[in-house]
Amino acid sequence: MTFASLGLIEPLLRALETLGYQTPTPVQAKAIPPVLEGRDLMAAAQTGTGKTAGFALPLLQRLTMEGPKVAANSVRALVLVPTRELAEQVHEAIRQYAEHLPLATYAVYGGVSINPQMMKLRRGVDVLVATPGRLLDLHRQNAVKFSQVQTLILDEADRMLDLGFSEELRAIYAALPKRRQTLLFSATFSDPIRLLAGQMLDNPLSIEVSPRNVAASSVKQWVVPVDKKRKSELFIHLLKKLRWSQVLVFAKTRVGVDQLVDRLQGLSINADGIHGDKPQATRQRALDRFKAGEVQILVATDVAARGLDIDDLPTVVNLDLPIVAEDYVHRIGRTGRAGQTGEAISLVCADEVELLSAIEVLTRQTLQRKEEPDFEPEHRVPATDATGAILKKPKKPKKPKASGGGGKRNLGKWVDSGESVAQAPDVKPVRKVPAFNTGPRKRKP
Ligand code: AMP
Repeated sequence: MTFASLGLIEPLLRALETLGYQTPTPVQAKAIPPVLEGRDLMAAAQTGTGKTAGFALPLLQRLTMEGPKVAANSVRALVLVPTRELAEQVHEAIRQYAEHLPLATYAVYGGVSINPQMMKLRRGVDVLVATPGRLLDLHRQNAVKFSQVQTLILDEADRMLDLGFSEELRAIYAALPKRRQTLLFSATFSDPIRLLAGQMLDNPLSIEVSPRNVAASSVKQWVVPVDKKRKSELFIHLLKKLRWSQVLVFAKTRVGVDQLVDRLQGLSINADGIHGDKPQATRQRALDRFKAGEVQILVATDVAARGLDIDDLPTVVNLDLPIVAEDYVHRIGRTGRAGQTGEAISLVCADEVELLSAIEVLTRQTLQRKEEPDFEPEHRVPATDATGAILKKPKKPKKPKASGGGGKRNLGKWVDSGESVAQAPDVKPVRKVPAFNTGPRKRKP
């Protein structure tokens, strides 16, 4: 199959040739024809599958072939994304695909000055990539009007709900024209996502390109059991022993990021860190340097690393397991992209056994464990498997507290949190049950 056989126009084919895309990925093959026909789409596709081109190519083609010119302060297509990093990345991809088309594209997100964004929107933009909060700010200040919007794309919809954007989505939805095409992409399909889809999409075509919630099979994954206090030491040991060339490391907290970066830099290892406390420009610079290969180790929290797209990233290390199991899939989606192979190593301590079990249940696999000589944990990590048996075990009644209490484990409880996913500046607090309760799309709001 070729991109030409999917019905794409010549200027797009030329852009793809420049980018070296030879054959469509499965999500592209499935999404491009129906999106060109104007259908609504609900796609289960994780990062790394080529989903951005899957929606962007037919979107750009339709905007070129149909519809009026964009008016001042208007947009013709909206792409909503959860984070600013993803906004930049998706916009950059769209800009490249639109290289030979007469379309204006732009990205807006919070954490940077709003005035230049308002200026840029004055002339109108064909495709606007936006995080929900900043988009609403701009809309409320009349810097952007929605009357010309013919296509809405929700990218990484699960993450937008996880990050507490359901209110913003509801407000944007209420302000959009009722006649439009809507495409929803999500790595996972939880009940709130299905509810959102039911309200926003009109008779959508459903496509699924990887088994639901299963991590990319091109990524070799394993777990190294270790005591919590020895994680950094083990990381440095493995880095040297396995000669990792470039590693993206996930830590749970901002403090955890800074501590590991300090330790690595103290050993003259080329490392940098990104988390929600750092200014956007600093984060972007660290990402750019990592992408350019100038930084060997990038340590990040989940929020900061969202949307990070690096070609050929060989290794992802989870210094801490994510609190939300879906984040594991997102994290390891940073490697093994577009046919490459990659490896994802999780350093797991006894406290994290329930998190490990949840990941195994979600990804329907029992992760292989490899103990590292000299790092065998004193606090054993109980056995887990994909059935989640450990989660179902009734908890033993608590014994009265004896003094000392040596070796007592605190299973699955994670209390020393310096950062929840909600604390980055662009992100609202996580709500457990997203309240997305507008009426169906065809009804008046
Ligand atoms: P995405 O899942 O959209 O984040 O894309 C993952 C990566 O795959 C990006 O670096 C894309 O540039 C790349 N990519 C997307 N489609 C193709 C294709 N058909 N051939 C080669 N690379 C691709």
